[in-house]
Amino acid sequence: MKIGTGILLWSGGASLAAGLAAPMIFGSGANTPLAAAVAAIAGLAVAPLAWLLNRDEDRLLDAANETADAQPVILPVTAMMRPISDAIRRLIDENQCDVQTMLARVRELEIRAKISDSERDRLETVLHSLHDAVIVTNAYGELRLVNPVAASLLGVRIPEDLNRSAEQVISDDHITRLIVEAHESRSPSYRTRAEVDVSDASAGPGAPGRAHEATIACLPDQNEPVGGVVLILRDIAREREISQVKSEFVSKASHELRTPLSSINAYIEMLLDGEATDPEAQTEFYHVIKNEADRLGRLIDNMLNISRIEAGISKAKYEDMDFVKAAHAAVSVIEPQAKLKDITVRVKSGPLLYSAEADRDMIQQVLLNLLSNAVKYSPEGGRVTVTVENDETTGSVMTTVADTGLGIPPDALPHVFDKFYRVENYKRVAKGTGLGLNLVKHIVETVHGGQVAVTSEVGMGSRFVFTIPYVRQSARRAA
Ligand code: ADP
Repeated sequence: MKIGTGILLWSGGASLAAGLAAPMIFGSGANTPLAAAVAAIAGLAVAPLAWLLNRDEDRLLDAANETADAQPVILPVTAMMRPISDAIRRLIDENQCDVQTMLARVRELEIRAKISDSERDRLETVLHSLHDAVIVTNAYGELRLVNPVAASLLGVRIPEDLNRSAEQVISDDHITRLIVEAHESRSPSYRTRAEVDVSDASAGPGAPGRAHEATIACLPDQNEPVGGVVLILRDIAREREISQVKSEFVSKASHELRTPLSSINAYIEMLLDGEATDPEAQTEFYHVIKNEADRLGRLIDNMLNISRIEAGISKAKYEDMDFVKAAHAAVSVIEPQAKLKDITVRVKSGPLLYSAEADRDMIQQVLLNLLSNAVKYSPEGGRVTVTVENDETTGSVMTTVADTGLGIPPDALPHVFDKFYRVENYKRVAKGTGLGLNLVKHIVETVHGGQVAVTSEVGMGSRFVFTIPYVRQSARRAA
């Protein structure tokens, strides 16, 4: 009775002690109810046995102390006590072994939980950094994951709309139909692609739809036919525009290339058929063929230069160049052509230094294109002036090529820098490719970060102005 009371009291104390000890066993991160419960149970099981053992050993020690001073004694271990104490020790060992297993299991579960938490965090970070819109639903069609691109595109509020039905939250019919169809397939291997026009919800009601490629797939699940749906939306509007521009370029380029080629063919055939009998006519034919071949060469060069710049593979060699010197060099190239039409070409500049970081050959190309146009589209006896100044407001060298020529009609002005654009009425005035000004724009704006503009009045002449920053943009950014 006394022992029973003692056990009862002690076990209560032990479970309390085990509960208090639990944080120490699990460490600060493991102070969980589960850990405390395991330790408490272990405490309850072990405590009475430990009490019995301790009590037995105390008695033996007391007996030893009493006889120590008298005479040496061999401690009596009764035949009945030994198996009991052995059994108790075994029981304690076994129980301790169970506790260790349970603690290890708890530890393992906690590690697994941490790993899956960090995997989920990583997945969310990846989804957040994607440019594509991503939506994940659960088996019941409720929104479980929506990345920011999808939220803004489809007007989903995060976190309010999470766990709500995708069909109710998303107003775009195309998208909801895709999600519903995927769920209704009841097939975990369901996967489909579609092109859909989606209006950007963040742009407000009535925003025009943009082409998107939708990829939708079902998620497998152990309990449901379909565990959920993943929908990815990729904006392909820009790709569409680019491919349209490319195909327009190819059709225009082949048209432009065919014109000089057919002209060359026609003249060669006439020569072969003996249509040019006298040497004078033959020479004239040869000249036409040479001119057309040159034009073909210019077309190809311009197309290659433009596409290299557009593709970003044109390497500019930047150096500090003097724009007045460059203007004089270009004028000396164009002078023979100008003289044929009695056109005067001069360079005007102040006493300062007019220099900027630029690619010498490319700037030479710009000046030649503008000067050759000024001469081409000016009647005999005209004047062409190249002015070089410093523009302190924009921090750049400003070069103007002005002529007293035909001028450009107002409706044509916005198009002169477009590829293959030529003013219809001037096609007979001079031969051209319609690519010269487009190349000028690319060299000035795309390569050098400057600007080019034109003002003109029909019958009075045209002024083309371009600016090149003193210091190129990437160098300025790096400074
Ligand atoms: P092109 O090889 O035909 O000259 P450009 O791209 O250089 O091609 O010019 C495009 C069109 O702009 C020309 O065909 C011409 O109609 C017009 N243009 C360009 N420069 C001048 C100018 N100085 N005066 C009048 N028209 C011009």
